[in-house]
Amino acid sequence: IRRLDESVVNRIAAGEVIQRPVLAVKELVENSLDAGSTSISVVVKDGGLKLIQVSDNGHGIRSEDLPILCERHTTSKLSAYEDLQSIKSMGFRGEALASMTYVGHVTVTTITEGQLHGYRVSYRDGVMEHEPKPCAAVRGTQIMVENLFYNMIARRKTLQNANDDYAKIVDLISRFAIHNSSVSFSCRKHGVNRADVHTVATLSKLDAIKTIYGISVARDLMEITVSDDNPSRSIFEMNGFISNANYTAKKTTMVLFINDRLVECTSLKRAVEVVYSSTLPKASRPFIYMSIKLPSEHVDVNIHPTKREVSLLNQESLIETIQNAVESKLMTCNTTRTFQTQTVSCAPASNFTARKDTEISPSVSGTKSQKVPVNQMVRTDSRDPFGRLHAYWQDCPASQHEKKSDLASVRIAVRQRRNPRESADLTSIHELLNEIDQNIHPGLLEIVKNCTYIGLADEAFALLQHNTHLYLVNVVNVSKELMYQQVIRRFAHFNAIQLSEPAPLPELLILALKDEDLESGGDNDDELRKKIAEMNTELLKQKGEMLEEYFCININQEGNLMRLPVILEQHTPDMDHIPEFLLSLANDVDWENEKECFQAISAVLGNFYAMHPPVLPNPAGDGIEFYKKDLDQELLAEAETAWAQREWNIQHVLFPSMRLFLKPPKSMATDGTFVQVASLEKLYKIFERC
Ligand code: ADP
Ligand code: MG
Repeated sequence: IRRLDESVVNRIAAGEVIQRPVLAVKELVENSLDAGSTSISVVVKDGGLKLIQVSDNGHGIRSEDLPILCERHTTSKLSAYEDLQSIKSMGFRGEALASMTYVGHVTVTTITEGQLHGYRVSYRDGVMEHEPKPCAAVRGTQIMVENLFYNMIARRKTLQNANDDYAKIVDLISRFAIHNSSVSFSCRKHGVNRADVHTVATLSKLDAIKTIYGISVARDLMEITVSDDNPSRSIFEMNGFISNANYTAKKTTMVLFINDRLVECTSLKRAVEVVYSSTLPKASRPFIYMSIKLPSEHVDVNIHPTKREVSLLNQESLIETIQNAVESKLMTCNTTRTFQTQTVSCAPASNFTARKDTEISPSVSGTKSQKVPVNQMVRTDSRDPFGRLHAYWQDCPASQHEKKSDLASVRIAVRQRRNPRESADLTSIHELLNEIDQNIHPGLLEIVKNCTYIGLADEAFALLQHNTHLYLVNVVNVSKELMYQQVIRRFAHFNAIQLSEPAPLPELLILALKDEDLESGGDNDDELRKKIAEMNTELLKQKGEMLEEYFCININQEGNLMRLPVILEQHTPDMDHIPEFLLSLANDVDWENEKECFQAISAVLGNFYAMHPPVLPNPAGDGIEFYKKDLDQELLAEAETAWAQREWNIQHVLFPSMRLFLKPPKSMATDGTFVQVASLEKLYKIFERC
């Protein structure tokens, strides 16, 4: 064992603090902010490898501090370890500038208030290369880092080959500019006049967002605030902006500041994403800006070499509170949006939203908000089988109805002319509805209406409590039945889910046929499959008009599936099951007999929309083996999200709706859908004996 040379130690440490050019920029900008600057400009050459230059108008560096400025662990921000508990500045280690001098050439020009001239000095390996030279200077400090990683060949090479850091730097400055909206920022490439980020100081964060991300983003944002001051849960304040249902993007943008520090928090990001994908599936990649403030003694800022993460006291309950707040916010916006896309508009929009708002009025601050969006479900109450649309028509006088000239009323008129009996007056549908009513198991109905959801017991079963009894309920069976019943109730009155891309029937059918053959060990005849798929596509295209009119299943002339019905608000089926769905739609329906045909289509839809376990194995259970083989992080993350989302859906969508709408058939009492697992009275008896 040998003791390493001081310079080797320093270079190794520096390589860790300044992992990439963007991190050098982050440290420099943080220093400028710590110095109280109101204007910061960044110039970058060659992705930061040739030059990074950060100029500010802060308080500057005293000339007597210059000799030790770039030594390791020299700082003006901290003196005792305890100060860390109450630190407000972003820097505290006194390492950043030193590190840069070990892996690059650093030149500092600075002037403090009241001085006639400034000083310029260059550093290498922690020390000055020469005495500070007097020079002309305007207010503040300019730090220039040249030839970053000149002495770390391998890193320089990998960075040169990879996409350069400039985009990351622009992104970084944009984030700082939102949170520090009272500071003006600019960031540009060396030799280019036009800045890629350019903000002027403003007090409004929304204005800053507008300047940086454009009006199209700012337009779709909603302000959100939430706080908690219960020491047994968490103490914090959060405010920020989150995107609404109209915002769509390829990936989530999360700009997060905790106690004014730009940090990442994967668990919070995931928690928010889960809410979005369950509540607004079409807008499931949100834009989020959040500023969270906690008492500084509740934050440990010293857990990551580049300060990218912090650890928080009571992080879990903080995340949960924020998650609830986001959820309530989205619920209100979702209501508004569904209304806006609603094509029949009889009452003025404001009436409706106002009414909804007072009903919902999410009280998020502090208390745990009511999780169950029951009030949303009322719109589609089983007593009002046609859901929202129907409620609307009753609201408005007939005369107003006739005046409507928009597309929707035209369509309804056409529909009524084509089918003089109002579509839902079809006797077949009445019969099916009656059958559901007559087949109710009263005991199960009582359980369903008044149970408390406890949680998932495994992949198929959830635990429910009803009075003193505990039940296991098969989630797949229950959801299948619920969806089936909802299809019959909403018959011909569906809202639509527009698929983001047309789904080509022939290819999907072939996929489904392949799966089927694989399972049955059938022969592997590509030609035959292709023929069957073509025939089935033709068949479904032929039935297209009926499928569209009654079930909102839209298949266009090219044989693409374009739209699916909304069966339960806030629930979209798992698109991995589309092939199976199409195949059974083609195979399992008897198109001749009206009632049987409708029943079969409803059942096929019910099966498709049911809450099956995701296709990817559950990473929380034995399924983790599947990902270990060749550790695919992306797949793992996808699986985690899918399972988390399903769990959320079961609790927040399935169970509330089940309470409202499900009429459990008699068969469910005996086919293992509901199983009683414990009864308190019996347990007491056992305990008495012990
Ligand atoms: P830290 O920020 O952790 O204190 P740094 O190495 O980043 O460590 O900076 C060392 C010291 O240099 C800071 O404590 C601060 O006093 C001074 N300094 C650095 N950059 C600036 C700047 N732009 N304006 C004024 N002072 C600065
Ligand atoms: Mg610093």
